[in-house]
Parts: sequence; structure tokens; C-alpha cells
Amino acid sequence: MGKDEIATTVHFYNAMVKRTYDLVYKDPLSGLANRSSITNHIEGLYSDETCQNFGILFLDIDDFRVVNDAYGHEVGDRVIVIISNRLRELTTDQIEVARFGGDEFIIVIQDCGTIASLESFAEAVKDEIVKTIVIGELQFNLNASIGVVHYPEHGISGSDLIKKADMALNKSKLSGKNKVSLYEMSFMAELEDTMEFQKAILKAFKNNEFYLNYQPLYHAKTQTILGVEALIRWHSASYGQVSPFKLIQNAEEMGLIIELGDWILKEACQFIYEINKEHEQKIKVSINISMIQLFNKGFTKQLVSIIEDIGLSPEYVILEMTETIMIESLQRGISIIEELVELGFGIAIDDFGTGYSSLSYLKHLPVTELKIDRAFVNGIVHNSFDQKLINAIVTVAHEKGIHVVAEGVEYENQYHILLREEVDIIQGYYFSKPLSGNQIAQIMKAEYKKP
Ligand code: C2E
Ligand code: CA
Ligand code: CA
Repeated sequence: MGKDEIATTVHFYNAMVKRTYDLVYKDPLSGLANRSSITNHIEGLYSDETCQNFGILFLDIDDFRVVNDAYGHEVGDRVIVIISNRLRELTTDQIEVARFGGDEFIIVIQDCGTIASLESFAEAVKDEIVKTIVIGELQFNLNASIGVVHYPEHGISGSDLIKKADMALNKSKLSGKNKVSLYEMSFMAELEDTMEFQKAILKAFKNNEFYLNYQPLYHAKTQTILGVEALIRWHSASYGQVSPFKLIQNAEEMGLIIELGDWILKEACQFIYEINKEHEQKIKVSINISMIQLFNKGFTKQLVSIIEDIGLSPEYVILEMTETIMIESLQRGISIIEELVELGFGIAIDDFGTGYSSLSYLKHLPVTELKIDRAFVNGIVHNSFDQKLINAIVTVAHEKGIHVVAEGVEYENQYHILLREEVDIIQGYYFSKPLSGNQIAQIMKAEYKKP
């Protein structure tokens, strides 16, 4: 074999070794270390007696599924690559970054110092994710949830540390996402409780234990009933009255929300159909829609088939959605909403004023209604800034022909201020708590005589 030949063979051999190494230890999409590579690295640190401390961040992009559902996997992959590149920038001799799978990443920080410094590093990582992602015409503002573990305090092996980082991540998700959580001993028990609770939800759904309450919405000026908001209720034998927030959140996590959401739509639409059959004066039903439901393929078709089966016109149905990042950034969200409005459904932006909402939404979104969050209504009596804010919201909304609803109105003085500020519709304990279907039927009977 000549010198050149040997060189070529060696070169070829090295390339093969590198390819084999990459196949085994690199994530092909992002080029980051993969699951088995980072797992080995963590096991290595754990058994390295010279290693004083290290930290693991387990990171997961919030609501990433919606990006995939709305835009397809190709766009989803590009988002993953952009995030991977940002995280790769963090790499040093001490810091290793891996894609653990899907939209999950693991960052290992050798000699990370104290738990507090690890946590502030995690916050900084989270800030990297928040930066707007631009892909062609599309813009995404995503968040991340992070679970944190610190060696030597947590865990009895490398894989145990990963498991606990995952539990801490789960804690971040359950406490509202976009958070950093440090592992705590109690998480193990909490996880078991959650699994138990989710089993109970599934059973209750199958046993038909869920039901709807309806809270009346009143015309601010005339104080007549215009509609009702359907609100889910579950009185569980073991858990008592379960918070709807908690129920919906868990249903989303379990993937049950699609089926449950369908059931809610059917139930609420049937209810309003029956009520309206009895009276010349028609009222509307507002139904809360989870983002996962909205972006699930075939949502519009399913909704249309539900109302057609019942014989209900879409003008009596208002879909309430919370203003998340998705509405603002996802063109697809806007086109779904446009289609729904075109079909004749009402669209309400729920909890307006919290989270990401901004008046600039109203420019892009063909919404018909805007619900000002209870937090602002609470403030109006004593806080002149909140009053001015409501004033501004009403002005802008009315300019676009959007109705403004004030939620959580509990006191007469709040009502009077809202009336003065020309809020159109009032919902809250001041007028009525959520009621059973029968109670609504009675209110309707009292208010409107039969035709
Ligand atoms: P939301 O959509 O903002 O619903 C309004 C919540 O405010 C309801 O709580 C209602 O009972 C409460 N509320 C109404 N008036 C007042 C008031 O004057 N004072 C106070 N303090 N509270 C008032 P609820 O029924 O506990 O529901 C909580 C959340 O759970 C809802 O917030 C909604 O996000 C979610 N949810 C409820 N039902 C459904 C559902 O069928 N589907 C979905 N996707 N989410 C639902
Ligand atoms: Ca609502
Ligand atoms: Ca609300």
C-alpha cells in the first residue's frame, strides 16, 4: 500500500468512525448531543469522584404541539433547529447541551456552584427561548418550562437525576408553564397524585359525571339577559367539587381535551337550542375553547356538524378563547378564526388584559367580543389607571365594532363605572352566579313570555 493509499484509507476510516459516532451520539436534526450521549455524560459525572457539583436543566418548549399541529412538522423542525442553535451557543468546556427528544432539551452544567446560581442560569436560558423566532413570514413567540436538579443534593444515580429533573419540569408545566422549578422531595408523591387524579377524570368522563353550569350575561344598559357562558362542573366522590381550571388543564395534558371539548360543545349547543325553542327572544351561548382543541385538525368541520345535527344556527354560538401567544403569532390561528367568523360564529377573546394580550391584536383578529379580565374590573373603583385602561379598550374595540364584556363584576359601584365607560355586557356575581340549566330556563320564562 502506497503512502497516499494509506492516507486515504486512514482518512476514510476516520470519516467512518466519525459518522458512526454521530449516528450513535448526535441528534441528526439539530446536531446536538442526543439522549444516549447526554445520559452517558451525566452517568460519567455522577461516578467521577473529583466532580464536586453539577446541575441538570430539563427544558421543554411550551405548547410546541400547537406549532406542529398548525404548521406541520417541517416548520416545527425548523423551530427546533433555531432553538437548538441558540442553546448550542451556551456550550463551554463545562456546559453540555443535548436534544433529549421532540421539543425536550437537557443542559448539563459541570461545577455549576450553588443551587441559586444554577436557578439563575436556568432563568437566563429561558430568556433565550422567549426571543422571537422568525421563519419567512411566520413569527413565533414561544416559552419554555424548565426543571432543575443539583448534584449532590438530588438523585441517587445519573438516570435518577434525569427522572427528577423531568419531574421538576412537570411541576413547571402544571404551575402554569413558562417557569423554572427546582426538584423537591414532595414531587414524587405529587406525581403519583396527578396520575391518580387523571385516572379519576377519565373514569368520570366515561361515567358521565361532568355537567355544565351557565352564567348569564346581561346587557349593561337594559339589564336584560343576552346569553350565557357554559362552565364545566365536576363533583367528584373522592375529590369534592373540582376546580374547572384544574380539570381542563389535566384533560389537556392527558389528551382528553378533544373528546371532552366535543362533549361540551354538544351539550352547550343542545341546551341553547332547547332554550331558544321556547322563546321568541333568543340568547347566545358562549363556550370556552382550549387552544389544543382549536388547532386540532377538523375542529371547524366537527363544530359545524354538531350544530347542524342539532339544527342550531351559528349566530347563537360564541367561542371564547384565551389570548395566548398563539393567536398573535400564528397565521394559522388567525385563518381558523376568520373561517369561523365567516361561518357566522362569534369569537370572544377571554381574559383580555392578562398575559400577552394587547390592543394591537384587534387590528389583526376578526373577533366579535372582548372580555375584560376580572383583575381589571376589581381595580376600577380605586385605581384610576385601570379605569383609563378600560376606557381605552372600549374606545378601540367600539371603533372596530367589537363588543366589550366585563367579567367578574361583583359590586354595584363597579357596575356603574362600567356602565359609564360604555362597556356593553356585564357578567358577574352582581347579576348572577353560574346556574343550572333549569334555573336559566326559569329566568328566561320569567323574563320573556312564550310567543
Ligand atoms: P373563565 O372562562 O374566565 O370563566 C369565568 C370564571 O369566573 C368562572 O369560573 C366563573 O364562575 C367565575 N366568575 C364569574 N363571575 C364572577 C364574579 O363575579 N366573581 C368571581 N370571583 N368569579 C366569577 P369557573 O367556572 O371556576 O371556571 C374557571 C375557568 O375554567 C374558566 O375561566 C375557564 O378558563 C375554564 N373553564 C371552565 N369551563 C370550561 C369549559 O367548558 N371548557 C374550557 N376549555 N375551559 C373551561
Ligand atoms: Ca370564559
Ligand atoms: Ca375569563
